[in-house]
Amino acid sequence: MSSTLIAPTASSNPRTNTPNPEGGGGGGLTRREKMNGLERQTKLNQEEQEEEEGFSHGDPPPFRLADVRAAIPKHCWVKDPWKSMSYVVRDLVVVLALMAIAFSLDSWGFWPFYWFAQGTIGHGSFSNSKKLNSVVGHTLHTSILVPYHGWRISHRIHHANHAHVENDESWRPMTETLYKGLPNLSRMFRHTPPFPLFLFPYYLQAVVVNEQAWREPGKKGSHFHPESDLFTPSEKLDVVTSTICWCAMVALLATLCFIFGPTPVLKLYGVPYLVFIMWLGLVTYLNHHGDGEERLPRYRGKGWNHLRGALSTLDRDYGMFNNIHHHIETHVIHHLFPQIPHYHLVEATKAAKPIMGKYYKEPKKSAGPFPFHVIGIFLEALRINHFVSDSGDIVYYETDPHLTIGGASKCM
Ligand SMILES: [Zn+2]
Ligand SMILES: [Zn+2]
Repeated sequence: MSSTLIAPTASSNPRTNTPNPEGGGGGGLTRREKMNGLERQTKLNQEEQEEEEGFSHGDPPPFRLADVRAAIPKHCWVKDPWKSMSYVVRDLVVVLALMAIAFSLDSWGFWPFYWFAQGTIGHGSFSNSKKLNSVVGHTLHTSILVPYHGWRISHRIHHANHAHVENDESWRPMTETLYKGLPNLSRMFRHTPPFPLFLFPYYLQAVVVNEQAWREPGKKGSHFHPESDLFTPSEKLDVVTSTICWCAMVALLATLCFIFGPTPVLKLYGVPYLVFIMWLGLVTYLNHHGDGEERLPRYRGKGWNHLRGALSTLDRDYGMFNNIHHHIETHVIHHLFPQIPHYHLVEATKAAKPIMGKYYKEPKKSAGPFPFHVIGIFLEALRINHFVSDSGDIVYYETDPHLTIGGASKCM
């Protein structure tokens, strides 16, 4: 992955939908004029269709956040550390049992099952106690090579700014100028399966390659470095603590490799880790990107507020993994109220649906326990969601018609 990306120099006008009058060093105006006619037409057709149906996801919602909150039963807000702990214990027992079975069988008939099962376990909000959260958070996150505080803070920023073009933190949309300023290879990798599924370690950035290294296009700074622009001065100590824990985990893995050889460590840990980051990449991408059936708006300036941002996400049905993975299928309500513990998310979603109306899109049902249907949705979403306009308070993803799957974009 290229880490020598150049920052755009164009300044955009976020207050209007008109092209940037200053043009800027990136030349956004001329490129917009050159936009392929077919692409424009597709966008116009979609907009017309939505207007005909009388609803656009970017319309101001006719309800307030407080209305949704009021519809959710009181007990859904209660965090129970013992219940949370029981889920952690359940997960740990399954993880260790699978590990023991895989190790003793050492059979190629079981290894793939083990890798898939292990790679998809982990995640969850816990209790009201910061200390308890920190201890459990460090234990669980460090074991999967995620720096707990660095991730917690960047995830909090994601929640506080979801769907904001400039301020969102993960899967932030690229502006047209930024997109077109990327090297061809970077544009291609970011939109060609399966590469986007491997972006998580790159996003965390354990190693800052050089000053230009971006965890996401337009966003510099590592999740491990206390001086990163992700963190405030008061958070530095937390970040250092998590980074030390992470280094200890790497040292432990290296020691295990030294004692037992790299092959068992790779089989028991390395491959499940890869499956985990791919699954995380898939699920988060799907929850934050629209597809052929539902286009999600992104906002700037006065267009953005917490309610609109939170509604600009989608629930997806992950079949049997909904339950195993602490109800990852309920992402809309999780964004509206991240404080609701995962074991109440399904009930809270059900209660909030009548208020959200058309702003809540029922997910396409999985035909069986394995959600194979999400592969098609993922491919479609990757094909159409490339960049957003440089200006405008409400924008939608646009498609680069020259970006072919597996081939470089010629839009430059
Ligand atoms: Zn999210
Ligand atoms: Zn979250």
